[in-house]
Amino acid sequence: MSEVLVLVEHVDGEVKKITSELLTAARQIGEPSAVVVGEPGTAGKLGEALAAQGAEKVYAAESAEAGQFLVTPQVDVLSALVASASPAAVLLPASVDGKEIAGRLAVRTGSGLLSEVVGIDGSAVASHSLFGGTYEAKAKAVSGTPVVTVLPGSVEPEPAAGAAAVEQVEVPAADAGKSAKITGRQPVEAGDRPELTEASVVVSGGRGVGSAESFEVVEKLADSLGAAVGASRAAVDSGYYPHQFQVGQTGKTVSPQLYIALGISGAIQHRAGMQTSKTVVAVNKDAEAPIFEIADFGVVGDLFQVAPQLTDEVAKRK
Ligand code: FAD
Repeated sequence: MSEVLVLVEHVDGEVKKITSELLTAARQIGEPSAVVVGEPGTAGKLGEALAAQGAEKVYAAESAEAGQFLVTPQVDVLSALVASASPAAVLLPASVDGKEIAGRLAVRTGSGLLSEVVGIDGSAVASHSLFGGTYEAKAKAVSGTPVVTVLPGSVEPEPAAGAAAVEQVEVPAADAGKSAKITGRQPVEAGDRPELTEASVVVSGGRGVGSAESFEVVEKLADSLGAAVGASRAAVDSGYYPHQFQVGQTGKTVSPQLYIALGISGAIQHRAGMQTSKTVVAVNKDAEAPIFEIADFGVVGDLFQVAPQLTDEVAKRK
């Protein structure tokens, strides 16, 4: 059976949820091999979790430098593995980093790139969700090793026991002239809330929220549901909420079980970041707002009345 490479996203010694989704998707095509790029000891810390998620092999690409450069170590390691292991496909998260690594990898290896897929079958035919989920397009790479980025939350992760046999691989020395060196890391201030792209529930606020202070209404509903908070670009540009929480074409892509949009009109650029959410609930005082076209449940009303009632109701049912 052919190998399928899965790039592992990890933070602080923990595997991110998307990795188990990628390993599940990889099993559709072949035998999943996890690729861990990081500082020495990283693969050892992640090995148990990767075995429980079905990784048959773990390529440990470790060096002191690997954690110091943005995306280039991953591209170098994956390119070398594509050449040496001839995998059936390479799967990566459709995260900011994952998409950049995938683009560079596809160019480097002369491969077809399938971006932001929501599913993949045994012949590496990928499904894409288009126009707010109205259409599903199927696509297949016709050259090289398919390089595929998978939207977080689109594949139901299924645990499976894997051998997770570790194989050390070399991390090529970074070309400092072409690589971006990380000069510092600052944790995103999301409090105790889950990370936006990994959360199973997201509550987002738009320009309709009206001010930074009023975003408390959004946060309270999010906290009652154990959700992450998101924002539209208009809300971010108006200074109501920080940029790292922006959902959409130029923000983050989310695909939670439940997405609640408060005071968001539903512009195509916003939908681009949330249209694959399993269930969409919209609260908007304009019955003609486009967000209702993709909402599973809609409330035509004032968010300042509806959201607090929802928050109270959730609290009562806990
Ligand atoms: P508006 O369109 O102003 O909508 C506000 C909504 O709130 C209205 O529907 C209104 O009826 C409702 N409302 C007002 N008060 C209340 C109330 N009290 N109760 C209930 N409802 C209320 N946008 C993104 O979100 N993400 C992106 O990544 C993104 N990228 C873009 C990239 C490009 C190249 C471009 C050109 C645009 C991009 N945009 C993006 C902007 C996008 O086109 C919209 O302008 C933006 O999404 C609108 O945000 P909004 O829905 O919050 O604001």
